[in-house]
Amino acid sequence: MTCKGCGLCCKVWIVKGKDFKLAGMRKNFIKTIKFEDCYYSMFESECKHLRGNRCMVYDRRPEQCKKFPEGKEMLAVWKLLNPDCGMI
Ligand code: SF4
Ligand code: SF4
Repeated sequence: MTCKGCGLCCKVWIVKGKDFKLAGMRKNFIKTIKFEDCYYSMFESECKHLRGNRCMVYDRRPEQCKKFPEGKEMLAVWKLLNPDCGMI
């Protein structure tokens, strides 16, 4: 697994539980996928620490950033939301 440095994981926010595609357009909405009877929606939300696809606080980035995509559920969801990620 090799990160391609696309920066997408630092530019989006994932919301679980609602099909925003059916709910109509929401600000910054990108897409909704369904995994195991649950909806996951991706929204544009760029981290303030990102500059040109590089993390400016890489050495002290939060644990959730270090581990992303952590767990079987998030790994499967991220695979569906961003199949081009080099870390899956
Ligand atoms: S972990 Fe995946 S989505 Fe994030 S920068 Fe690397 S290749 Fe892109
Ligand atoms: S802190 Fe760094 S690794 Fe975490 S989301 Fe922001 S830019 Fe990405």
